[in-house]
Amino acid sequence: MLRSALIAASRSATCRSVVERARMMRPIVDRFVAGAGVDDAVRVAHELAVDRLISLDHLGEDTLDRAQAERTVLAYLALLARLDAEGLGDRAEVSVKLSALGQALPVDGEKIALENTRRICEAAASAGTTVTVDMEDHTTTDSTLSIVRSLRADFPSTGTVLQAYLKRTEGDCADLAGPGSRIRLCKGAYDEPASVAYRDKSEVDSSYARCLKVLMDGKGYPMVATHDSRLIEIAERLAAEAGRAVDEYEFQMLYGVRPQEQQQLAGRGLRMRVYVPYGTEWYSYFMRRLGERPANLAFFLRALTRRG
Ligand SMILES: Cc1cc2nc3c(=O)[nH]c(=O)nc-3n(C[C@H](O)[C@H](O)[C@H](O)COP(=O)(O)OP(=O)(O)OC[C@H]3O[C@@H](n4cnc5c(N)ncnc54)[C@H](O)[C@@H]3O)c2cc1C
Repeated sequence: MLRSALIAASRSATCRSVVERARMMRPIVDRFVAGAGVDDAVRVAHELAVDRLISLDHLGEDTLDRAQAERTVLAYLALLARLDAEGLGDRAEVSVKLSALGQALPVDGEKIALENTRRICEAAASAGTTVTVDMEDHTTTDSTLSIVRSLRADFPSTGTVLQAYLKRTEGDCADLAGPGSRIRLCKGAYDEPASVAYRDKSEVDSSYARCLKVLMDGKGYPMVATHDSRLIEIAERLAAEAGRAVDEYEFQMLYGVRPQEQQQLAGRGLRMRVYVPYGTEWYSYFMRRLGERPANLAFFLRALTRRG
């Protein structure tokens, strides 16, 4: 219930203005967000690139303003030019949210998001890197997968995300586990109804394990995005059973979450990628992170009620 409330708050303008103005919030936000600008993103990418791979996300979502979607494209083009100039193209890719690129615009949203993402894929290809398309709430899944299919015709390495909490996902994994596909499997971060999603943690975890098996047995490149130690163990076992070498799949975790475990996995020679968000539009992303762990919420409430 708490998680649902925080996810609802992540879309509330009133909560947003209270949280953004609370000065004591900054250290907690900084744990999850690299900083406001491209310099911060590149600095953190260099720090992590010592032993890990990176996926950089320019924060922002749910735009209903075409000019804002264009600004998001320009931010990604600038980021990719920097990654290229700094020689980070082989370690750092980018993650994009289609709702930040125009998908929700009332007229031609899907077409605009496709064209905008295509421009980012072109720049990523010139920088020698890839793009992964994040997955948002279930009302966007079909549209997102259709856009990714179109992008893959010209940029076959374009990756996407599937969410194990959705009942459809095991089938989507089977459809998308073909040669060359890059699929990031996560549990799912939105508040979805029981008609489309498993709501019980043990059911979500079982679905995750089943989806992992489909991806590991398939011909694509599975990206195992979880901080859950049990599922990480299962992923390693399934990869070994499927005869996968350590460079034929990867683990992914979020910036600021379980950094020691990230280092341990990387230290064991496994591929470990960190999802690093940056930018000023951190509010919705941050609220979803709070909902994932009660201890985060306790820090948050203390900071919100402290004067400072
Ligand atoms: C690389 C990456 C990309 C993602 N992309 C998407 C996406 O496109 N769409 C989407 O819906 N979701 C996305 N997610 C979020 C995901 O769906 C989950 O909400 C999130 O990862 C928490 O699930 P978990 O698998 O870590 O398992 P959980 O059962 O939630 O957590 C397992 C353990 O990990 C630790 N942990 C987990 N989250 C936190 C946190 N926020 N703070 C501190 N500790 C924590 C805790 O110790 C917890 O007990 C992504 C996650 C990752 C890692």
